Amino acid sequence: MSGSLQSRVLRGPAATLAGNPFEQPSRGCLITHDDALIIIEDGRIAAFGPYAELNDTLPEGVAVEHYPGHLLVPGFIDAHVHYPQMQVIGAFGTQLLEWLETYTFPAEMSFADAGHAGRVAHLFLRELLRAGTTTAMVYCTMHPQSVDAFFTEAARFDARMIAGKVLMDRHAPAGLLDTAQRGYDESLALIERWHGRGRALYCVTPRFAPTSTDAQLDAAGALLKTRDGLFLQTHLCENLAEIEWVRDLFPARASYLDVYAHAGLVGPRSMFGHGIHLHEGDFCTCHQAGAALAHCPTSNLFLGSGLFRLFEAVDPRRPVKVALGTDVGGGTSLSQLQTLNEAYKVAAMVGHKLDAVQGFYLATLGGARALGLEDRIGRLAPGMEADICVLDPKATPLMAFRAGYCASMEELLFLLMTLGDDRAVRATYVAGRPVYDRDRSGDPFRPAHGEEQP
Ligand SMILES: [Zn+2]
Repeated sequence: MSGSLQSRVLRGPAATLAGNPFEQPSRGCLITHDDALIIIEDGRIAAFGPYAELNDTLPEGVAVEHYPGHLLVPGFIDAHVHYPQMQVIGAFGTQLLEWLETYTFPAEMSFADAGHAGRVAHLFLRELLRAGTTTAMVYCTMHPQSVDAFFTEAARFDARMIAGKVLMDRHAPAGLLDTAQRGYDESLALIERWHGRGRALYCVTPRFAPTSTDAQLDAAGALLKTRDGLFLQTHLCENLAEIEWVRDLFPARASYLDVYAHAGLVGPRSMFGHGIHLHEGDFCTCHQAGAALAHCPTSNLFLGSGLFRLFEAVDPRRPVKVALGTDVGGGTSLSQLQTLNEAYKVAAMVGHKLDAVQGFYLATLGGARALGLEDRIGRLAPGMEADICVLDPKATPLMAFRAGYCASMEELLFLLMTLGDDRAVRATYVAGRPVYDRDRSGDPFRPAHGEEQP
């Protein structure tokens, strides 16, 4: 390899998924090395393997960033999150529809101010990186400037991010409504500005069926055809009152999912948030279309929405792709470790055990597959974009004590997904650059580009 300035080498224990542990025995899906090297060139992983095998290939004088006692894993993927809801995370006492009226819509109104959007995007990106999350699929607000603010901040870190302007043309405060035509025009302008620029990818984003007319849902379907590789995100079957409302609003449709299918919104890059109350026919539709579900357990518990049937969704006879989402601000943490902690409990409540390998699959390779981005992110392997999270299994005194009783990598991963949170993220690398270092004195964040804001 060359010794160019773009090279970087990480060393330490490492773990990455290589198969789907919902379809094969978990143990065979996990690749681990007690002492690994990750060689990075120009933002991508050039080599990954045991130190003993790769050490000889390093040119003399290359500094090795060594993390003994830590764990190098792929950066986490959050498939469902609302950055404008940072200011209402942990808001008391409501279920979905009342929660939108009481907390969410007023918060989203404040994004008419581009300065506010910029300040929240600044904090949000940093909180993602602090949690070890390197890719997220993000709802902005209906204001185009909220999308500009988010992608501008993501570009400072060269982060692989997916986001879009929320489309709503009914059943929301006047200040948050567009029209089918205006939503189309503003989305198209944002697609032209951002989709494929650097690592940004655009996502057509009708909030959910009750806040869009048929005309707007059809316009969303038309937007998806304007460029290759566009994504679709919306909410689906989160809450029983919501489902009842959709039935009243769209009496001609066979199901909630059928509302979206009718508008051409159910395809291989569609990500449906929640899907708690789906029927077998809906799972079959998602399977056949290649559409994915975002499992958001902290939100589902916090808002009292219900228990997602993960193991039914991924049934190998007609598997539906499932990713993990935080759904902040309905969710209560941006940490995918905390999200896995709750995913384990939700699975347990419906009679299943989510093991650690399955959990880390959802947060990394499974998320990448659900997004159709498994050729770029989600694994430690040559050719992949070098988005890497350095975990610290001894981040707290309790974790350090408990780690002493872990006899296997699976036990250590389970400890991380049960007791871990942002404190257990020692460092985050994005496109091969160390953008976050928990232990750095002063500002722990180092954007790749642009001036730091005060
Ligand atoms: Zn949501």
